[in-house]
Amino acid sequence: VKLEKIPDYIRDTMEWFMGCYKSCFMAICLLKGRRKDKEATPMNIQDEECRQYLEDEFTNEQICDVDFCSLVELPHGLDYNEWLATHTITFFEHISLMYDTISEFCTSSGCCNMTGPANSSYVWEDSRGKKCKCSAPQYVDYVMSHSQTCVCDESVFPTKYGNLFPSSFESTVRKIHRLLFHVIAHIYHSHYKEIVQFKLHAHLNTLFLHFMAFSRHFKLLEDHKESECLDALYAKLVCANIARRHPDKPVESNGDASPVKSSGDCLPPPPSAHELEENKENLMEQSAEQHEASS
Ligand SMILES: [Zn+2]
Repeated sequence: VKLEKIPDYIRDTMEWFMGCYKSCFMAICLLKGRRKDKEATPMNIQDEECRQYLEDEFTNEQICDVDFCSLVELPHGLDYNEWLATHTITFFEHISLMYDTISEFCTSSGCCNMTGPANSSYVWEDSRGKKCKCSAPQYVDYVMSHSQTCVCDESVFPTKYGNLFPSSFESTVRKIHRLLFHVIAHIYHSHYKEIVQFKLHAHLNTLFLHFMAFSRHFKLLEDHKESECLDALYAKLVCANIARRHPDKPVESNGDASPVKSSGDCLPPPPSAHELEENKENLMEQSAEQHEASS
């Protein structure tokens, strides 16, 4: 098939699948080596303090230059719940797909706890509120099963004309977002090396950026303490995204990656030193003018 002759969106999908195929091939090669030594492989050993994903070289990798903060805003005339529903389903599918690519490496022996950056660890709570500590693959399985059950339940995610969203819809969505955040946190924390090996880090960054912009805009991650472990990454990705969209206007990355304020909104771009200077000059000019006018 000549790729040039088919519509763009199909071509993009095909190219994406081809990329996946290549990734799968690499994964198989890696697995072959891995099966010989199931106990520990260098791929599974991730230093607690090693946060490669925060390095500029990696945060600059994103697959598109969309302004996610504007993109996630509810378009005029669209139903809020519909907006929440379509995004939640899409995030669930994409995060599930992303996890699938590294799931072979997420084993109950290699990842015996569901961990995230900054010593975060997540304990599964069943529908009766009973907590159970489980391995990461088990936890992710619970997350995906729970999300799948919710999005397929007509009484929770109504799709048929005349069926209304239940009053508990927003809290259901909040819970799914919180659980999906845990999966992303685990991927960044424990499987980033595999993601980089498969050349999927630009996809992961973009997915995370979109997910966080949406979650923050609609205040879906209630427990900010919990999402703090990836605040520094989000801040850096936002800066990189702005820099990509405005290559002529350099944005200074907050090097120490200070945590994003819990405003629930998108992170505003930190002003560059140049902008700060400019603002200061403008303010001084304004006050001089005011002074002249008054005297
Ligand atoms: Zn894992």
